[in-house]
Amino acid sequence: MKLQEYHAKRLLLAEKLPVPAYDVAETAAEARRATESYLAGGAEKVVIKAQVLVGGRGKAGGVKLASTPDEAEQTAAGILGMDIKGTTVRRVLVAPAADIVREYYLAAVLDRSTRRIMLMGSAEGGVEIEVVAAKDPTAIKQTHAHPHLGLLDYQARALAFDMGVDSQHLRDFVSIAQGLFRAMIDNDADLVEINPLAVVRDTSPDGSTGESLQCLDAKITIDDSALSRHPDLELMRDVAEEDPVDVAARHEGISFIRLSGSIGCMVNGAGLAMTTMDLIKRAGGEPANFLDIGGGAKADKVEAAMRLILADLNVRAILVNIFGGIARGDEVAHGLVEARNQQERHVPMVVRIVGTNADEAARILAESGDPDVQMAATLDEAVARVVAIAAGAPVSA
Ligand code: GDP
Ligand code: MN
Repeated sequence: MKLQEYHAKRLLLAEKLPVPAYDVAETAAEARRATESYLAGGAEKVVIKAQVLVGGRGKAGGVKLASTPDEAEQTAAGILGMDIKGTTVRRVLVAPAADIVREYYLAAVLDRSTRRIMLMGSAEGGVEIEVVAAKDPTAIKQTHAHPHLGLLDYQARALAFDMGVDSQHLRDFVSIAQGLFRAMIDNDADLVEINPLAVVRDTSPDGSTGESLQCLDAKITIDDSALSRHPDLELMRDVAEEDPVDVAARHEGISFIRLSGSIGCMVNGAGLAMTTMDLIKRAGGEPANFLDIGGGAKADKVEAAMRLILADLNVRAILVNIFGGIARGDEVAHGLVEARNQQERHVPMVVRIVGTNADEAARILAESGDPDVQMAATLDEAVARVVAIAAGAPVSA
């Protein structure tokens, strides 16, 4: 689950990381009021930032500075409602604008290959890290935290030296890097990214200046499988920005991942679902999704799964592969017949049901008299047929 910047910053503040003050506004008038208070507090400008779960907001015109309440109101009005990469902006973050001297990139990520948390940094901050990685991979420096001891001081210092961080910021850099590590652990995150981690010029009321490191942007993603341990984080979920199909799948308790192929899959059990996808690929087809309806699937769950599959207009054929154990074949068959009766789009379907009440399932499907439903005796046969249908047959409306 991705978090919005204003939520991510809250988690950074909980780790005592340096994040400039900020407000969240849903209207231009609210943005104006926030600006008035920051300007009254001594800020020269504010930064107004679109809150959407996509990167590159700056380039898309979703990050702007304003010097007066009028300007802030107009700017916020322009950003609210703006479309950024297909997402409509519904909120903006308002903060005193930082006077940026330098921009670094710093992130903690779960490195699955080493099974450790990796700290990744670059002197080329502010730009997308994928671009840096493609242009000059050596510009990205890394270190792996110890699984029990965490990110040790010397490791964080070595990373700072590699990145060319000025010695006056070394101490702060070490505590920020360790804070990112803690944010990973405390929230079961798989990414905590600060881009830019900026050297900011601070001006005191007496006119003297100094510099500090500040987290100006924050991106955090939480491991979905760990969300049951974090009810407070679950509340930060932005359903409006999620794919409606994902929202529906979660609501029905169905594991569903959309893919780019043309063969819809309905399977019970994660292992069987993966095997089914492998067999489809081996036979030259492309699965349109991973779908595990779970154990003991009832007719209504089968119907819901069918709706998820058919919502994808790339689907040209459907493979139903059910191993009846706790799930009963007749229940699944009833669900399939019911789903076929309700749906508007008729897509050919190949069904393989074995195990509990498989004969009953075959009878129910045969009696339904649907010419687009075929039964297959074996999985190999089912896969061969569904791949052939997806490759050739036109989709009947
Ligand atoms: P992103 O484009 O979605 O990653 O959004 P960011 O929050 O990283 O902002 C993009 C860029 O806007 C940053 O790299 C900065 O150069 C600039 N920016 C963001 N906040 C400030 C600020 O407070 N002051 C100034 N001067 N520039 C900012
Ligand atoms: Mn950024």
